[in-house]
Amino acid sequence: MLKKSFVAVLAVISALTTVLSCNSIVGSTTSNLTDSLENSLTEGNTKGKQDTVKLMDILDSLNRGKIVFPALDSINKIDPKVAKRQFRDSIYRELNKKDKHIYLTFDDGPLIGSSAIDSIITSKDIKISTFLVGKHAGMSKRLKRDFDRYMNNPLVECYNHSFTHAANKFHAFYSNPEIAVSDFEKCETSLGLKHKIVRMPGRNIWLFDDVRRVDLTSGAQTADLLGVNGYKIYGWDVEWKINGLSGKPVQSVEEVYRRINNMLGNKSTLKPNNIVLLMHDDMFQNKKGQQLLSNLIDSLKQHKDYKFDFIANYPIKY
Ligand SMILES: [Zn+2]
Repeated sequence: MLKKSFVAVLAVISALTTVLSCNSIVGSTTSNLTDSLENSLTEGNTKGKQDTVKLMDILDSLNRGKIVFPALDSINKIDPKVAKRQFRDSIYRELNKKDKHIYLTFDDGPLIGSSAIDSIITSKDIKISTFLVGKHAGMSKRLKRDFDRYMNNPLVECYNHSFTHAANKFHAFYSNPEIAVSDFEKCETSLGLKHKIVRMPGRNIWLFDDVRRVDLTSGAQTADLLGVNGYKIYGWDVEWKINGLSGKPVQSVEEVYRRINNMLGNKSTLKPNNIVLLMHDDMFQNKKGQQLLSNLIDSLKQHKDYKFDFIANYPIKY
């Protein structure tokens, strides 16, 4: 079954005339790309050789136009557009068979809501990622205790969301990258964070490996300076929004759940088979909010191929 579906694909690949240079397939010839694809697609090879070209990297190259299909002529019977679509579909089919990785991320803790999140995810036995605001941990005995709960829970990893949360004046904060970076450093030392992993307040910016995605340019210089200082920065694919006035979640559980399924299905996340969901601790202050979180987790857990991971492991590749 597996091999059968690739005969056509491999034929197409064999017919490739050019593989333009890209980070992951630099210098590949058509034949070793074919070999790599076969290796990647062989069952049980997901933990295989480090240098195996990953399906996701091939898909990335394809989407960036770095794999060129030969023009339709008397020798090549397949229209390059059709060939490309078939090739993409075959990668999708393989990715669909693999595990999907969900990163539940909670911002702005410790806040009222953090202890409930800690209890819920512990009872569900799933991993979560928290992006903490340094000064919140010093605001009260209760929040210090909730921060300690997060830190001591093996199902929770704690990451950096700055010390001051930019005092919610993001543009001004990012206008001085040195001061902004020192604010993240202050968060790291005051909370004793183990990871050099950041989410930038008020910005959906990604900066890790060869990825650099910036939503609003006023945060770009700070992001780059954080990168130079050894930090990785993670944004999000989906946000479960919070109502600024009521503090309640905006979308229903069904909407968020559907969106996660759809984005995983149509490969519209930043990295296929990996999805980062943004939430805020203060959405889950009361029983009603907590029930919604519990329901969302239960819905996601119905899928045996959905796995909950820490953002430090992002992205898991195939
Ligand atoms: Zn925030």
